Parts: sequence; structure tokens; C-alpha cells
Amino acid sequence: MSDGRILLKNGTVVTLDPELGDISGGDVLINDGRIEQVGQEINAPGAEVVRADGMIVMPGLIDTHLHMWQHPLRGLGQHVWGFPDYSAHVFNLRERYGPQEMHDATYTCGLDALNNGTTTVLDFCHNVLTEEHAEGSLRAHRETGQRVLFAYGMLGRDDRLVEERPSRLAHVTRLAGELNTDKTNLVRLGLALTTLTYASIEDVRAEVEHARGLGLQMTIHQNVHAEVFRLHEAGLLSGDLLPVHSNNLTDAEIGLLASCGCAISFTAEGEHSDGHSMSVIGRADRAGVLPTLGVDAPSFTDPDMFAQLRATYNIMRATESQWERQEGRWPVRRYEGSPYVTSRRVLEYATVNAAKAIGLGDDLGTLTPGKQADIVMLNSGLFGIASGDPAYHILHYSTARDIDSVLVAGRFRKRAGRLLDVDFDKLAATAVGLRSRIIGDA
Ligand SMILES: [Zn+2]
Repeated sequence: MSDGRILLKNGTVVTLDPELGDISGGDVLINDGRIEQVGQEINAPGAEVVRADGMIVMPGLIDTHLHMWQHPLRGLGQHVWGFPDYSAHVFNLRERYGPQEMHDATYTCGLDALNNGTTTVLDFCHNVLTEEHAEGSLRAHRETGQRVLFAYGMLGRDDRLVEERPSRLAHVTRLAGELNTDKTNLVRLGLALTTLTYASIEDVRAEVEHARGLGLQMTIHQNVHAEVFRLHEAGLLSGDLLPVHSNNLTDAEIGLLASCGCAISFTAEGEHSDGHSMSVIGRADRAGVLPTLGVDAPSFTDPDMFAQLRATYNIMRATESQWERQEGRWPVRRYEGSPYVTSRRVLEYATVNAAKAIGLGDDLGTLTPGKQADIVMLNSGLFGIASGDPAYHILHYSTARDIDSVLVAGRFRKRAGRLLDVDFDKLAATAVGLRSRIIGDA
């Protein structure tokens, strides 16, 4: 009989903790949901031993921007080329959702993301049409066992934005009282602010002040030029607010974000394929803004952070070489500080940085004793781990299909390549039924 502790044995442990580094032949001891010890040849009689031979053991990935309600709309984003298309082909379908559809979509998306190694997600839920819609999503989150910051969308129905705000904020207050009793609760509440494209700065101020009064993390879509200036002028920028996309930021705006301790969420595949400027993440990183990564919309992108890691690395390398050419340094050559972008740096975006950006830097993001045991075990396949930095193997020689196991708070959610506690026939039927209710046979 095991004493409840779990010992992951003999893996290549990529802790991302600067003190601990990478440990080959490394063990991770888990006790009561937390990491108790990391090192070689840990002796823990009574613990359940789980072999990690040939595997990379790494922190779970953290997605800082995912619209989980769009999971049944997979594929519809292929018709999107610019924001009007998105409104016409994807976002207009939001009114077809009731609370049950919100539950089912969130449930299928949560399992999809967990299966792909995402242990924590910021669910940017901009489809809270009624209180019951939010309750439907939250019910699903409690069922998947994923760690979630549920960013309650203030958008609501467009024509009732101002009129409904007080009752929506009252609902937020009630939910915060239930969910945010401890920062390591698996499902916690945050706020997704109305974008300045749809609301006045005073409306957004009312939301921010309410959230700050409750100690909630916030996030906001940032698409249109100069919105960061407006937020700063209004005194609203602070480290508890996570801007998303931010592709049009000037260097001056990036400087403001850095001085206010803000991170950004960069959603590589969606932004790239929709024609946005890609330089922001490299400029932000160099200026001291914490870059984090997100999938964005399952209507056009798979909830797979491994894909985002690789896309981000390649996009940043391409941008960096473009800057080198512009400076006359061509062909590119190595010098101190160049190349700037490394696989390890990008891996940190989706772990260390993301944990800090959602207010959980002390609890997540590295495999450090005392932190939550949110862990991915990655098979290295027939040919083993590639030479050099294991972070390079993670980004360039792995896909989500190589994931053997996923643990959240020390509990296996996926093991030996298969999600646990899931009725797969029922899950498939749920997904088919949901899709047919929302989009018919398209
Ligand atoms: Zn988004």
C-alpha cells in the first residue's frame, strides 16, 4: 500500500528552477498535491513509484488566453481574414449557447487541453450572456480537474452592456466569495474586462475598480492602437491586468507596460495567421515585459500549447533575423546577445512567466519543492532525447502526442497516454451533439 505520496523516478527533470536546473536521472517526490523533493535517488519508502525512464519531467504548461466556449466551433476560423470575418463567422454564434452548451463546450475543451499537457488555463469567457452561462462553465471546470482562472467576461449582450453591469458585478462578487478562498483552489475567479473597442474608459474603470476591490486578476483584449496609453492615462495599468495580443503596441506603450509590471499574452498561431504584426513579443521581452502564451480561439487553433511554443520560437527567430538584416548584419552571425531567442526562454513564457502573470508565481511554473505538483511527463520516443538542451527537445522534437502523463495538484489526470476519469463514448457523443446544436451539419 502506498502512503499517498508519489515518486516519479529516473527522468530528465527540467525544473526551470534556476537553483535546481536540469537533473538527469532525476526523481520528483509528490506529497499532498505539492512537490516535496526534487533530486537524484530520492528514498521514499511507502511512496507509489512511477517510472519516468526515457522521459522528460517538466512543469505543466499554462495557457494565458483561451476562449473555451468556442471548442464546438473548431474549423470555423478557417473563413476568417480580419475582424469582420471573425464577427460574421464565429462570434455571431455566441447567442446560440445556453448554460448547458457552455458547460459541454468548456468540458470538452478542458479535456482537450489537459490531454495536450495544459495543466492551467485562463479561460477568457466572453460569452457570459446570463449568470447561468457562467455557472455552466464553472461546473465543467470543477469536473475536468484542470487548474483554471475563470475570467468572467463583462461583455454580455452588446446592447445591454451598461444596464446589466451592476448585476453582473454583483454576481462576480458572489462567485469570488465562493471560489477565491485560497489561491491554490483549482478553480478561481478573475475578470475579463470589456475591451475599449466596445466600452468607454469610464466603463472599464468601473470594472477594474470592482475587480481590484475583490483582489481579482484581470485580462483585456488589446487590439486597437493606443489603448495602452488610454489605460495608463486613466491610472488603470498594473501587474494584475494582463493585456492580450497587443500586436500594435509602440515601444513607448511597451515601456509603460514594463514600468507597471504588466505581462502580455501572445497567441502565436492565431495572430500570425490573421495577419498581425509579430514583433511585439520580442520587443516586449527585451523591454522587461513578461511574455506569456495562449491558444486564443479553438474555432481556428487547436488547444495545444506545444504548437504555440514551436510557432512562437520560429516567429521570433524570423523576426530577429529580419532585424539583423535591417541593421546590415547579413548573413547572420553569432555575437554576444545574439541570437536572443532560445528554446528555454520560450518554454519559460508558458511556465514561469505565465504563473507570475496570473498571480501564481509562488505556486506554479517550476518544479520547486513547496510548489503545486502540476507536471507533464513526456516520452522521448524510439530515438531518445535529442542532444543539447532538453528544452530544445521539448520545443522541436516533441508534440502533445508524446505526453505520457499529466498531473494537476499531484493528481493524475492523464496516465500512460490516456485521460483518466473520462467516459470516452459519452465525451464523443457530447461533442457531436453540441456541434450539431450550435452549427448544424456544417
Ligand atoms: Zn481572444
